[in-house]
Parts: sequence; C-alpha cells; structure tokens
Amino acid sequence: MKQMFIGGQWLSAQDGRTIAVINPADGQPFDEIPRGGAYEIDLAVRAARAALDASWGQTTATERGRMLLRLAQTIQDHHEELALLEARDTGKPMTAARNDITVMARYFEFYAGAADKLHGEVIPFVNGHHVCLLREPLGVTAHIIPWNYPAQMMGRTIAPALAAGNAVVLKPAEDTSLSALRLAELSVAVGFPNGAINIVTGLGEEAGAVLAAHPGIDFVSFTGSNEVGTLVQQAAAKNAVKCVLELGGKSPQIVFEDADLERAAPIIVRGIIQNAGQTCTAGSRLLVQASIYERFVAQVAQIFERVRVGSPEMDRDCGPLMNPTQLARVNRYIDSAKASGIPVMAQGQIDPEVPAGGYFVTPTFFGSVPRDSALALEEVFGPVLAAFPFTDESDAIALANGTPYGLLTAVWTENGGRQTRVAKAVRAGQVFINSYGAGGGVELPFGGTKRSGHGREKGFLALEEMTTTKTIIQFHG
Ligand code: NAD
Repeated sequence: MKQMFIGGQWLSAQDGRTIAVINPADGQPFDEIPRGGAYEIDLAVRAARAALDASWGQTTATERGRMLLRLAQTIQDHHEELALLEARDTGKPMTAARNDITVMARYFEFYAGAADKLHGEVIPFVNGHHVCLLREPLGVTAHIIPWNYPAQMMGRTIAPALAAGNAVVLKPAEDTSLSALRLAELSVAVGFPNGAINIVTGLGEEAGAVLAAHPGIDFVSFTGSNEVGTLVQQAAAKNAVKCVLELGGKSPQIVFEDADLERAAPIIVRGIIQNAGQTCTAGSRLLVQASIYERFVAQVAQIFERVRVGSPEMDRDCGPLMNPTQLARVNRYIDSAKASGIPVMAQGQIDPEVPAGGYFVTPTFFGSVPRDSALALEEVFGPVLAAFPFTDESDAIALANGTPYGLLTAVWTENGGRQTRVAKAVRAGQVFINSYGAGGGVELPFGGTKRSGHGREKGFLALEEMTTTKTIIQFHG
C-alpha cells in the first residue's frame, strides 16, 4: 500500500481510508493509495508555506535549477522502472509510457535551465527615481491533474512552479497516482527540502475540491474536464486566487486539396489514436476539401483499419481506456453515431489475446458527419475520428471554429498564403502547419481559447503564469 508525501513525511490517510489502484488492461486491483481529504490537504498547504518560510524560500534560482536538473537525470536513471509503473497504472502501450517518462524528464530539464534566466526589468521613470520590477514566486501553488498523461502532466505543471521558487501541492488523479508518488521519492534523493513538493492522493470531490478552495494557496493550475474546471475556478475566485485552466478540446485537422496527402494521412491517424484518443489535443475532427474528400478519406481509412489495440506489454497502437466510466462513455458515442446512420469508414481491431476484463474499445472512423451532431461538437475522449467535407477556405475556417473548444488546429496545404491566413483565422492555442503533435512540445507555450480554458503552460510563459511582479519605486534625488 502506498502513502502520501506531505512535508517530507510519508503518511496514510488520517482515517485510514484507501482507494484501490486498478489495472485498466484487466480491471484488477494491484495496489492501494490513501484517500486523503480536508485534513491532509490542510497539512500539505501548511507544509508548503513552512518550506517557503524556511530553506526552500532561501534557495537561489541557480540552486533550484540544479535540483531540477538532478531530478531530470534521476528520472532518466529510473526510466524503465517509471515507464513500467506508468504503463500498469494507465494501461498505455510500453512505447508510449517510455515516451511519457522521457517527456517528464525533459520538463524538469527545460525548467532547470530556465530557473536562473527568469529576471525582472528596470523601467525608465521621472528624474530622481529608480524603478525596478522584481519577478517573484506566487507562494503555495496547487496543481490538480488528470489521468491521461500523469507523469507528463506532473512534470508540465510542477517543474515551472518549482523553478520559479513556489512550493507545490499536487493532487494527482485518483486513477493514476503512482508515478507522482514515485517522483516524490526521487525528489528527496536529489535534495528538495521538506515541504517544497507535497503530494496528496484522494478523490476529486474530496481532496481536489478542498485544495482548490483552500485559503492558504496562492495559485491553482487545473487540467481536466470543463465541468470540474468551472468548479475549480469558482473556488479559486472566492479567495481571489489566479487559476490556469487546461480543459477539453475538439481539435480539427484541416486538409486542403493541394496538401501532401501521403504525409498527412498517417500523422492524422496517429493524432487520434495516440493514448487511445484520451488526449485533450487529440485531432478528433478531420476536415477535408470536398474535391479530394472521397479519395483522402479512403486513404485515411486504409491506415485506420490497421490500428491494433492491446495491453501495455503487447505494445500495439492503443491501450485500453482508463476506467469503466470512460469505456461506457466512448461506446455510447460510437453506438449512437451508428444508430443515427453516420457511416463507419473504418475500424481498428482489438487484439484477440487481450486480457479479459480490460477496458478496450474498438477505434472507429466516421465519415460525412453532420455538423450539428454530438460527434461534431462534443469531446469523445476516445479513439473516434469524425470526417467532414468543406467547400473552400472560409467554409473550412467556419467549420474549424464551430465548436465550443479552441485548443489545437492543424492546417495541411502547400499554399504559403493560405497556411498563414488559416492559422491566423482559427481560434486555438497552437496551430500546426503540415504537421501535428498532440501535446505540442515542452518548449512551446500551450493552452486553450474559448471553452478549452485560459492561461498558458509549457515554455517560458508558464514561468510568467506562476510568478508575480513587484514594482519598486525609489526616490534617490
Ligand atoms: P476530471 O475533471 O474528472 O479530473 C481531473 C482532476 O480533477 C482529477 O485529479 C480529479 O480528481 C480532480 N477533480 C474531480 N472533481 C473535482 C472537484 N470537484 N474539485 C477539484 N478537483 C476535482 O477530468 P479527467 O476525466 O481526469 O480528464 C479528462 C479531461 O481532461 C478531458 O476533458 C480532457 O480534455 C481534459 N484534459 C485537458 C488537458 C489540457 O491540457 N488542456 C490535458 C489533459 C486532459
């Protein structure tokens, strides 16, 4: 049984409650985590504050950078062990789990390098004055993350917070807390002082809700669903605490008739299959110019048919979904689309050797999807691709912007002017041109517009989000 990490101590829940850890590939429990609640969250926020008042608050940016770099190296030293843990906890194929650990290490490496490059400004003012703008940590930062990329999400959100000098309290998803707990263990060995990093495991409506509403926090970063994001923002607002929300998506791949179709087709399939479609930036909508619609959809269907689903060890294209709720939800979308007569263009296959009891779903590619259907407008969060024909550039832009979301967009065309016009016209936090990377790079600012959230993570902008400024105006005569 695992314990939580608070103020440098390993603790069970005060009332002894636990949550079973289930392997999504066979539905079987294989471990337990503590079911922390209000008591543990309060302890963690106090521990973080105490760390800021003690040695963590005194560390120089260079020292913080070095600790982060040692953590990045330690993650690499434990790469295979962490990948196995992540694969078992999430069900994802081993290759994907290995990649996630590499990316997690990269977040710590990137922000290690950035820690002592973050500085203030001197501002010209009226004669006789000296004005400087200091950039300072916010204080205690709260981080609530989802289950789809637990290791990556943890690196993405706590590495910049620590680099900037904040003390963090992380609430991982109840389905996938193991990599966070193991990382906490590794952080001790590289010298992070007690209370700089705190991990409280527990349910969202218990531990998560209390963390977001805690008067002792100075910032909250939330990644997850729109419904919960709204609750987190409301809770943060009551304490006038800033929040960054990374929410859902319905990202379009826009393919014009002059695109390099050979290059586009496999990348488009990968963009929806990755992590069994459980990716906020999954390219779930395929928008194709009518003149090439039939041909290109057939080309994508050919690749889609070869998609194989298996357990982590089988290391196929997709693993199982996360939990039974997620399985029921995705199957509901597939079944109701079929029932309403939306044509299936291709389906992947679940390997017949998968263990019984796993949460496996058949990847499905739908064509000629009505623009007002659930499949066109709602986030499925599964390996379900929906294709739509469009007539011209303005129709493509209207279709791309025609959902409540605005996270990622890809534009596929060889026409340089069109590349830039469309990239400027779509509402999204990132736009790929002739490429697609769900997740989109540790160095590259990332986040949503519209209902996909607000604020930015990744790159240098995350450091701005997780710091505040102080303007010092001195009269020197
Ligand atoms: P979720 O909102 O159910 O849970 C996310 C986290 O919030 C978990 O840690 C959960 O325990 C916690 N939580 C649940 N209820 C809470 C409450 N009342 N108060 C505070 N915390 C609470 O989301 P999920 O199902 O784990 O993740 C799927 C969603 O996340 C999808 O919509 C997906 O698009 C989104 N997502 C977005 C990004 C991004 O960067 N934009 C990345 C990954 C996932």
